[in-house]
Amino acid sequence: MDTRKYDVVVVGGGSAGIAAAVAAARNGAKTCLVEAGPMIGGELLTGMTIDGALNARGEWVVGGVVNDLLKECREMGGFIERLNDFRLIQYVAYDPEILKIAIAQVVYDCGVDVLLYTFADDVVKSGDRIEGVVVRNKNGRTLLSAKIFIDCSGDADLCLMGGAQMLPHDDDGPPQPVSMMFRMAGVENQPLLSFVRDHPEYLAVGESETIRAGRTDAQLAQAIYDQGQPCIFLKGDGPFLAPAIERGELHRTALIMMQPTSAARKEVCINTTRVSLSDPTRPEALSAALRSLVGQVRQCASFLQKNVPGFENASLSGLAPRVGIRETRRIVGDYVLTRDDVFEARKRDDGVAKGCHHIDIHQDGTGQIRIPVRDGGSYDIPIGSLLPKGLANVAVAGRCLSADRAAHGSARVMGGCMAMGQAAGTLAALAVNQNHRAEMRAVGIMRLRGVLRDQGAVLDGVA
Ligand SMILES: Cc1cc2nc3c(=O)[nH]c(=O)nc-3n(C[C@H](O)[C@H](O)[C@H](O)COP(=O)(O)OP(=O)(O)OC[C@H]3O[C@@H](n4cnc5c(N)ncnc54)[C@H](O)[C@@H]3O)c2cc1C
Repeated sequence: MDTRKYDVVVVGGGSAGIAAAVAAARNGAKTCLVEAGPMIGGELLTGMTIDGALNARGEWVVGGVVNDLLKECREMGGFIERLNDFRLIQYVAYDPEILKIAIAQVVYDCGVDVLLYTFADDVVKSGDRIEGVVVRNKNGRTLLSAKIFIDCSGDADLCLMGGAQMLPHDDDGPPQPVSMMFRMAGVENQPLLSFVRDHPEYLAVGESETIRAGRTDAQLAQAIYDQGQPCIFLKGDGPFLAPAIERGELHRTALIMMQPTSAARKEVCINTTRVSLSDPTRPEALSAALRSLVGQVRQCASFLQKNVPGFENASLSGLAPRVGIRETRRIVGDYVLTRDDVFEARKRDDGVAKGCHHIDIHQDGTGQIRIPVRDGGSYDIPIGSLLPKGLANVAVAGRCLSADRAAHGSARVMGGCMAMGQAAGTLAALAVNQNHRAEMRAVGIMRLRGVLRDQGAVLDGVA
């Protein structure tokens, strides 16, 4: 088998993986990023907004790599702006086609070796260390050896292959449903915004006191109108969607959420479809779900064209490149982030990233749990949530972090995933530079936090 040697190998090129690879390479580690698909960026490429980068009060809680990506995107005219749906959160909207270019630019510019079309298939282990990951692609099998491995596969594939423990799935319902994001172009803003301003009862707005700030639903609908962007959350149990679901004109859903992706194309990204699976890591189940999901896309697009002002001449313009997976495996780390950590906006001396998204658990059919972080603030994600117990030279970042189910429902969004990725990649490089065996747990937390701060990460304050 061919062998290649690196300091750091990152498995998975989604939001966490790109940030991890960039951070490791920038801090001097020879880094390889392995991605099973044909493109890097993961869910960042579907058009959904970046949640978890701004808290509900509008303060940035994530910096560093995310800023570099948005800067590139802005230079190419693909950064829309920070927006508020006046429901629970503030978020960042951008053009995903332009972000594809920005991501590739930033990742390649810092010298990461990117290996697309390549699946991490097995590991070679010695004691509590992974010595190499066996990857498979059209060349056959290759052994990538490294001092440190970062699992950003979303599904904790590497940790599982390395024998790490996974947290049990609680018995409060199946994993969050899988979805197919899609985009529609040619949407006329003015009639759409007038429609929502005139029907506040159709919307989910003011679900946290911070966002509501004493305003009525009508005033919040007016604020959406005044913002001038198609930033709209139609609620599944409201008087507009519920009867349509009842009549069978629309699939059963908690929401039709639309967010802008391009003013030039008059385009919005739509989050609404859902299929509940008992285990979204199973390819057979995911493959079968695709059929229902594309049916829902078709039905929803037609529903919008017939019933929502502004969509009369709109057309489907993009489909996510894959079925979107919200929730699968979570590792058992040195620390398990808890619901109370999130809800209470807890700060910690060993925090290496921040989260601020509400506890957001999509359920089957029309259900969705949404619990805001206290006072619209942020909480700290400690380094221990990124270090799997029992593996000395592996870190994780992204949605497979060590967190209970509720905390995962918050930390899984892309702002936090990128912040975790930056933390894991920086830690890996510091460990490689610091000692022969690259002991990550021997890197001082103050040193790690210092380097992260110097490189733009937000670690302090933000309520
Ligand atoms: C439908 C949907 C809507 C969402 N809405 C939002 C939103 O509006 N805003 C927001 O911020 N977040 C949203 N989220 C959550 C967020 O997008 C994800 O939780 C986040 O992107 C996860 O990032 P990640 O890097 O951990 O994993 P992923 O983005 O899943 O990336 C993992 C990558 O690893 C690769 N990979 C997996 N296994 C292997 C392997 N064995 N070998 C090689 N490569 C591998 C995959 O191909 C993939 O590219 C949504 C998620 C979904 C599914």
